[in-house]
This record gives sequence, structure tokens and C-alpha cells, in this order.
Amino acid sequence: QFSSASGLHGLDASQLKIIRKGGEPTPLPPLDTLVFGRTFSDHMLDVDWDVNEGWRAPVIRPFQNLSIHPAASSLHYALQCFDGMKAYKDDSGRIRMFRPDMNARRLLLSSQRLGLPSFDELQLVECIKALLSVDSSQVPQKDGYSMYIRPTSIATQPTLGVGPPSQTKLFVILSPVGPYYPTGFKPVQLLADTHYIRAWPGGTGDRKVGANYGPTILPQTLGAKKGYSQMLWLFPEGDDYRLTEVGTMNLFILWKNEQGEKELVTEPLGDLILPGVTRDSIIKLAQKMHDIKVSERPVYMKKDFLKAVAEKRILEVFGAGTAAVVSPVDRIGFDGVDYPIPVDPDNPSAGIGPLAKKLLKELNDIQYGRVPHEWSWLV
Ligand code: PMP
Repeated sequence: QFSSASGLHGLDASQLKIIRKGGEPTPLPPLDTLVFGRTFSDHMLDVDWDVNEGWRAPVIRPFQNLSIHPAASSLHYALQCFDGMKAYKDDSGRIRMFRPDMNARRLLLSSQRLGLPSFDELQLVECIKALLSVDSSQVPQKDGYSMYIRPTSIATQPTLGVGPPSQTKLFVILSPVGPYYPTGFKPVQLLADTHYIRAWPGGTGDRKVGANYGPTILPQTLGAKKGYSQMLWLFPEGDDYRLTEVGTMNLFILWKNEQGEKELVTEPLGDLILPGVTRDSIIKLAQKMHDIKVSERPVYMKKDFLKAVAEKRILEVFGAGTAAVVSPVDRIGFDGVDYPIPVDPDNPSAGIGPLAKKLLKELNDIQYGRVPHEWSWLV
């Protein structure tokens, strides 16, 4: 497959070479001992690119360390982006990916933002399918368990200097993972800090570049010391603040709006938030529920949210992302005051509200192939 515009080789899954580790696949550890992102499968996908040739043949090889020149600009100027998605084993043992076209597309957009090379998204999905097939015995088959897939693109050329990379590597590693809440739902507490800002207009908040994540560690650590488990990222506007995201999740609020309608709201797409695949899926599923209105519009802390808290109009607040799917919130700290958030007034011990629970079930049913859906791609 050649890209006609440049005359360079495009990313081509039909050129894939497979070098197997040899011997039996490494058995999975006892599933209840899996810790997110610590265990990796036996193989990885590795594709090099250079400015003269384009994409080299993709290779699946035994999982191994990378050898990288110390001057590579991924190590100096954050010329690095990644994505995160999951594959699930259904009851018949078949592996299913959840909307992988959206993740491949997002990796492409992240790459383009950094001058890393473009590729045909579906070719990348084909390569990942092949990797999942090679390591299929390491995809856990149990409800709540899955294979986390981490595609990453990095600049590798051996020269300092800030400019478009002349050599890059795209690799994909796989990590078997367990449920985010192994012992039942535990709502999280959020610190809505007014000092640290995750994303801004014209920045990279809508792309999954590593440079967005390193700077969140300090605020997150400061928040944890004060007893909050995640940051609620605010964006200042006038004398108020938009509620944008939660930690590494998109934010959803279910409330009775000022018109008295039951409404599910989330920040609109734009520079301030990552376009989450879970976010998009929840919006589409909620639009099919007839008793709620779904809106993508800004919610301001003081004039909207705290007013709704005071008027007891908040029904549920939750984060949404690949890792936990939904993550209920029961407390938000803002400007030195803690605001309790209802989770499920009818069933306080559930740890999750009725809408979040319903969405989680609908998504899990699709992901594990219990309900046929075009979002679930057989490997
Ligand atoms: N926002 C941020 C900042 C994230 O890192 C993630 C995780 N990718 C999300 C939202 C949720 O995105 P997704 O539903 O695609 O996992």
C-alpha cells in the first residue's frame, strides 16, 4: 500500500511479520492479583517510520525493551502520543474490540498535532487485531476483565533540535486488566482547584499527548494529601469556571435543570476536553432513553453547579472513561468548601446512581458481546 501523495509507504497490515517468542504462552497470573498496567502480554507490535521511506513493515515481536538514542526528541520535547482501549473475551471465547476505529482515529489526530506521521487508521486496527490473536490466551475471559491496549507513537531520530521528526516508532503493548472497582463501587471525591489548568483554547487538551499528563501529577498529589482522589479540572471564564473533566475521565452531570427537565450534561467537544470514546458512547446510549434530555454544553461552577447543589437539583455526577467506564462522585471540594453530591438517595449503599449503573450495564453488554452491536468488533 503506497500513499500516492508522498510516494512513501503507507502503514500496511498485509506486510505484517510475526516473530514468536517460542515455547508456551506465559500463563496469566491469578486474575484477582492483576494491577492496572503492571502485567504485559508476551508480544508487542512495532512499526518504524522514516521520512525517506515512510512506514516499514509492521512487526509483532516478543515483548522487549526499546533501544532508543538519548537525543530522541520524544525524550526531550515530548514528541510522544498514545491511546488506550480495551479488548474483551465473550462467552464463546472470541475476542472483541470496542469501537477501535475511534481510538485509532484519535491516535492519528494526536500524531498530526505533533508532526508525527499519519497512517490509515484501519490498517492500525488490523495490526492490533493480529497482535491480540497472537496473545489471545492472555486475554482474560471473565466479566469485568479485559486486555488493555496501549498504542504509542514516539519520535526516535538521533538528533537534538526541535522540529518535525525524521524517524519515529509506533508500538502497541497489551496489558491484561481487572475491574476498576473489584469490591463494588466506591464513589470518588474531587478537588475543583482554581490554580492548575489542564487544557486551554489552542492547546493540546483535545489530543492524547503525553505532555498533557505529566503536569497533572503535582496537582493530583496535592489533592490526594487533602483527601481527594481526583482533580475536577476547571477552566476559568469571567469570574466563573467551566467544569471540564475529572482526572482522566470526561464529566457527566445528571440534574433537574432550571427548566425542571431531567438533563444529562457534559462539556462540549473542543480544546478543553479529550473526545472520550466512552463519552461519545454514553451520549448516544442516553439519547435513546426517553426520559432524559442529553446536552453538550458548558456547566459553570458558581452560576450553574453550586446553584443546583443548593437547590438540591443534582441527581448524579460521574466520570466516564475506558478504565472504569463510569466512576461515581460523592463529594466536590471548591474554594475551601466541601459539597456532598448525592449518589443514589434511594439506595445509599449501592455506591453508584441508577443512570450510571444502567449505562455501565448497557456498555458492558455490548463490550462482552452479550448484546449484538456495531460498536463491538470481532478480532
Ligand atoms: N479525558 C482524559 C484526559 C483522558 O485521558 C481519558 C482517557 N483516555 C478520557 C477523558 C476518557 O476517554 P476514553 O473514554 O476514550 O477512555
